[in-house]
Amino acid sequence: MPATPDDLFQQHLEHLKDALPDASSISLAAVLRFISLAEQIKNDIILVQLGNYNLSFPPNHLSPAIIKFLVASCNISEVDVPIYWSILKVAIWTSTSFSMPNTHCRSNLVVDSDAIYPPHQTCLTAGCLNHKKLMETSQRPAILYTLSRGPIATYSLGLYCDACHMSFHNAYYVNYGVVKHDRMRTYYGNVPSILHVGGHQYVEVDLACLWRMQSVLAWYVILMRHLPHICRKSFVCPTYNAKYISTVHPFERLSVSHN
Ligand SMILES: [Zn+2]
Repeated sequence: MPATPDDLFQQHLEHLKDALPDASSISLAAVLRFISLAEQIKNDIILVQLGNYNLSFPPNHLSPAIIKFLVASCNISEVDVPIYWSILKVAIWTSTSFSMPNTHCRSNLVVDSDAIYPPHQTCLTAGCLNHKKLMETSQRPAILYTLSRGPIATYSLGLYCDACHMSFHNAYYVNYGVVKHDRMRTYYGNVPSILHVGGHQYVEVDLACLWRMQSVLAWYVILMRHLPHICRKSFVCPTYNAKYISTVHPFERLSVSHN
């Protein structure tokens, strides 16, 4: 019988108790936060790895900036972070062992759980001979409009492949191998969870859907408020067929022709 997520989590806790020099320092909240945050900053963890790093497996070591970020975010000591990582890294990397609620955190260490990355850190061009992790990165400040937390200051990253001259972004790629006026954005095949709406502004799709619904409702309210006035006007127009207007759906009345 396969182990349940609860069993796996319990096993990891037991391993942590055995490995940490002071087992009494373990806090369940800190462990949960460590797993949740590390899952969300996987792109930051990958970004600083060497070009020959295999993205399928978790790296053995974390960068100093990532360690400091986790220390500050999870309230654990700096010497304990490598121990937490060595025991939890496989579960974090596969993201299948536990179901963690999203936790968001930011610091002044250029690590941000809201940072906007391309979907992959390897080249997506068919036939490109570069199979290594992309190493040329561009980064710029961005504002991310979210449904649950409002506007957030973060940054967006682009990755460049020097073999095929493609620049990859969160929702599209650009071919820099052609002359400037022929360059255009080619969007990936599916709707991204974050939309780039212009300049440094990004919007979560869930928020865009809410705006769309609010816009439709606003138009409906305006229409219903002014509909009696519009219909009253239409009845005094001698070229209207009043009998027809009184039987059609209210929305259809507006499109009745004067002919
Ligand atoms: Zn390439």
